Amino acid sequence: MEVRLENLTKVFPSRNKKSGEEVVAVNDMTIVIPDGKLVGLLGPSGCGKSTTLYMISGLQKATGGRIFFGEDDVTSLSPENRGVGLVFQNYALYPHLTVKQNIKGPDKLSKNEMLERTVEVAKLVQIDNLLDRKPSELSGGQQQRVAIARALVKMPRVLLLDEPLSNLDARLRLQTREEIRRIQRETGITTVFVTHDQEEAMSISDEIVIMKLGVVQQIGRPQDVYDSPENLFVAKFLGTPPINVFSGRVENGKIYIGEDCVLEAAGVEDQEVWVGVRPEGFVLDNSGPLHCLKTGVEVMGRDVSVVATHTASTNSVIRAIIPSETVVGDGDSVSFSLKRNKTFIFRKEDEKRIRLEK
Ligand code: ATP
Repeated sequence: MEVRLENLTKVFPSRNKKSGEEVVAVNDMTIVIPDGKLVGLLGPSGCGKSTTLYMISGLQKATGGRIFFGEDDVTSLSPENRGVGLVFQNYALYPHLTVKQNIKGPDKLSKNEMLERTVEVAKLVQIDNLLDRKPSELSGGQQQRVAIARALVKMPRVLLLDEPLSNLDARLRLQTREEIRRIQRETGITTVFVTHDQEEAMSISDEIVIMKLGVVQQIGRPQDVYDSPENLFVAKFLGTPPINVFSGRVENGKIYIGEDCVLEAAGVEDQEVWVGVRPEGFVLDNSGPLHCLKTGVEVMGRDVSVVATHTASTNSVIRAIIPSETVVGDGDSVSFSLKRNKTFIFRKEDEKRIRLEK
C-alpha cells in the first residue's frame, strides 16, 4: 500500500496565551512512501518525526494537507478505520495478560481464526514458545516483539514504528533492528520507522527522509543521501565519525581551505563556502595540499583514524580514516590530498550544496 502525504502540516496552538506563538511541528510535507518499502523518518529531537507518524496513524489530526493510502483519502478517518499497526518505544503491553492475550488484544475475541493468526504472527516474530508468559517474564527485546506481533495480527495496511528500539541495550538493538527488517521483508507491509539514530535508519531503511524543524530536507536511498547530500545539515547529520567541515572559499575556480588550495572547482563563482570532507575522503600524502597538525592516531582494527587540527576546521578535531596498513609518520605535521567524490562545498548564505564537475 503506497502512502502519500500531500502538503501535510501540523500547527500546535501556543501553550502560553500571552506569547501567542504557535509551533509548526510539520511544515508542508509532501512525500511518497512506496508500496512495500521500509522508510525511515530521521532527524534531531523535535523535528516533527513523531507528529508525522501520529498524523499518518490518525492519532493526531493534520491542520493542513492530505494523507492517502493508495487511492483512499484517509485524512479524516479515525485510527481504527485506517488499518494501521502502531508500535511505540515503550511496548505498552498489558501486564496482567499473557503474551497470547496481549497479541490478541483485550477484546476477548475467541474466534479460532484469531487464535490461529496469533500463533502465526508469534512464529513470524519468533516468540511462539513464549505465548503463555506474562510481559514481566520477558526481556525488553521479547516484549518489543510482542508489541510488533500485536500490531501485525490485525493485518494492517501500514505499519508505523515510533523509536521501537530506544529502550533496548546496544546488542539487542542491533539484533532487533535486523528482526524488524526481516519481518518487514517477509510481510511486505509498507512501514514507516521513526528514529533519531542515523546509523539505525541507514542500516534498515529502503529510503530515508531527513527532517529539520518540521521541514523535509532530503529523501532518498541511504547510500545516495550519504554520497550526495543536498545541504550542510544533511551532510552533518549522516555519518560516523561525522563529516569534517572547514571554512573555505572558491577563488579563480579553485577551493581553498586557509592558504591550502585543495581541489579544482571549475565554473564555480568566487565566494566563501563551507568545505565538507568525509573522514574517508582524506588520503595521507606527503605532497598533499591540506596541511594539518597531527594530535593522535586511533587504532580501529581494519582502519586507523588520524586525529588532527587545522585553523579553518569547524570541528574541534579532524578525523581522517585511512587503511591501517598505511604508515603514519611520527612528526606533528601531516598532509592530505582530498578525494573529489568525498568532498562537498556548500554556499555560506543558505548552506545549500554547490555541485562540482566530476
Ligand atoms: P523526538 O525525537 O524528541 O520525539 P520528534 O522529531 O518526534 O522529536 P515531535 O514530537 O513530532 O518531534 O515534535 C515536533 C515539535 O512539535 C516540537 O517542537 C514539539 O515540542 C512540538 N509538539 C509536539 N507535540 C506537541 C503538543 N501536543 N503541543 C504543542 N507542541 C507540541
